[in-house]
Amino acid sequence: MSGTHTDARISRQVRRLETLLEERGIVLGAALDEMLDAFLSGATPLNGARVVARAWTDPAYKERLLADGTAAVAELGYVAGGVQPQRLRVVENTGATHNVVVCTLCSCYPVRLLGPSPSWYKSEAYRSRVVREPRAVLAEFGLRVPDGTDITVWDSSAETRYLVLPRRPADSDALTEEQLAARVTRNGLIGTAAV
Ligand code: FE
Repeated sequence: MSGTHTDARISRQVRRLETLLEERGIVLGAALDEMLDAFLSGATPLNGARVVARAWTDPAYKERLLADGTAAVAELGYVAGGVQPQRLRVVENTGATHNVVVCTLCSCYPVRLLGPSPSWYKSEAYRSRVVREPRAVLAEFGLRVPDGTDITVWDSSAETRYLVLPRRPADSDALTEEQLAARVTRNGLIGTAAV
C-alpha cells in the first residue's frame, strides 16, 4: 500500500536527518525526541472533536470555521499543517448534503486534528470505491444516508485537507461543550459515521 511505503520512507528520511543533525551537534537526540513526542501526542481526534463542539455552541465561530478552517482551528491552538503548510477546509453536513473525505491518490489526512489515519482510509478499496459509490460504501460503515440527501466526496491533497462538521445530535441541548466533544467520533469527522 502506498501509504505504508510512504510512511516507511519518511521514517528512514527522518532517521537519516536526525543522525546528520546530531553528528553536527545541531540537535541533541533527547531534544529531538521531545519535539517528536509533542507532535505525535498532540495529534488526536479529540482536537477535531473540540473544534466541532465549539462550532456547535458558538455560531460566530462556526461561521469563521466554514469560511477559513485554517485560521479558525488556529484560534483554538491547532496547526493544520505538518512539515508543510496545509489549508484546512471544513465542510458542513446538513439535511440536504452529507460530506465524506478521501484521498484518492494516497492517504492525505488532517493528522493533527484526527490522529493517525485508520488503515481502511488508506486502503485501495475505500479510495477507489467511495468516489464511485459513496452511498453503498457508507452503508457498509453502517451509515444510511437518506435518499433525499446528496453525498459530496472531498478528495484531499498535499495542500488541502478536509474536516467534516457533523450535524449536532438532536438530543444534545443540555450538553456542555466538553460533553458534546466527547460525542464526536473520528469517523464522524471523516464522514463515515453520523454523530
Ligand atoms: Fe494523499
